[in-house]
Amino acid sequence: MSFRSARDAVRADKYMIDVERIRKDFPILGREVYGKPLVYLDNAATTQKPQCVIDAISEAYCNENANVHRGIHFLSQQVTDMMEAAREKVRQFIGAGNTEEIIFTRGTTESINLLASSFAQAFLKEGDEVVISGMEHHSNIVPWQIQAQRYGFKLKVIPVTDSGELDLDTYRTLLTPRTKLVSITHVSNVLGTVNPVQDIISEAHPHGIPVAVDGAQSVPHIKMNVQQLGADFYAFSGHKIYGPTGIGVLYGRKELLDRMPPYQGGGEMIKRVTMEKTTYNELPYKFEAGTPDYIGSIALASALDYVDGIGMADIARYESELCNYAIERLSAIPDMRIIGNAPERSAVISFLVGNIHPSDMGTLLDRLGIAVRTGHHCAEPLMDRYGIPGTVRASFSFYNTKAEIDALVAGIERVKAMF
Ligand code: PMP
Repeated sequence: MSFRSARDAVRADKYMIDVERIRKDFPILGREVYGKPLVYLDNAATTQKPQCVIDAISEAYCNENANVHRGIHFLSQQVTDMMEAAREKVRQFIGAGNTEEIIFTRGTTESINLLASSFAQAFLKEGDEVVISGMEHHSNIVPWQIQAQRYGFKLKVIPVTDSGELDLDTYRTLLTPRTKLVSITHVSNVLGTVNPVQDIISEAHPHGIPVAVDGAQSVPHIKMNVQQLGADFYAFSGHKIYGPTGIGVLYGRKELLDRMPPYQGGGEMIKRVTMEKTTYNELPYKFEAGTPDYIGSIALASALDYVDGIGMADIARYESELCNYAIERLSAIPDMRIIGNAPERSAVISFLVGNIHPSDMGTLLDRLGIAVRTGHHCAEPLMDRYGIPGTVRASFSFYNTKAEIDALVAGIERVKAMF
């Protein structure tokens, strides 16, 4: 079913979303594991793909494949136009002002590595400080640590409260004349907390401090407008928003990107190369060395079309209802400990049950056909903050149902009974 059919599936019922019709767009949701219907609750790790995205990949390889930006021949021109149309789709989707500000990368991790490497080279030196938070994914910690070792700046960390929120009073005290950047996750991939990024930005900007936002867990769930938000940089992964793996985006304000050096060297990012000196291409190509994943960007645009077809407002409303239902049902299980209970939260719930190790819980749920994530979720400092080795994490999409949450609850009860 195309994204247009998905739009047709929107009904004026309580949630405005016809889940059963939408589920038919995702072939994998119809399969069984261990002879049981798949209950896929690992959407924060990656989302499943609608048929239109699968078709976009297949059709592009069947009909349009050629290397982009290089050939003058028909196919190369056509696929270049399609990739640039995909860039325009991303621009619209996140509300950026200009396609020059949309850089295609492999995903959030590469986007933040690009940012850290290039921003540090341009702007950071010994004595400077970059502010991150205690609930960051490793991909918004380690790239900064690597650059901090190289350039001698320091990382300052906003603490996380018991309820799983950022301690904004401490944040304010961390902003000093030494602060050169704040890099913060919009939504925690462990706690589901939606951070008050707008407030964080409005504290930083009056001091001339730019703010980078890790949007990996927000872009699939919250309507994004980078200009309204005031984000200077915004990173996300295609595979977490129903697109293919291997494609992602770094948005950056042109004024800053123009002052930052290339991240990688090679084809496409140059204007002129001699053995003595190279001049660089303009934005966004300066940051896109080598053959990009043009098929990935075309399929990502198809995924964004699909999401737009359903409508972000309805997605947010439906997922919030689903999440509240899950919290209510899970909370009723004796010995249940939900980690983080921020009032503003997205479709992620982390929990522990009694003394059952998260990996035992995950393995046994898996045998019941229920896919959840267990472990530290690439957020070890956050696990240390709570003094826990890991959690079980259930994360939702608009294609999940209350019946699947009931299956999760029943599964947890069964596992509990075994211990
Ligand atoms: N940041 C956050 C908050 C995430 O949840 C993830 C993925 N778990 C990443 C960054 C990294 O994304 P990717 O692996 O797609 O690069």
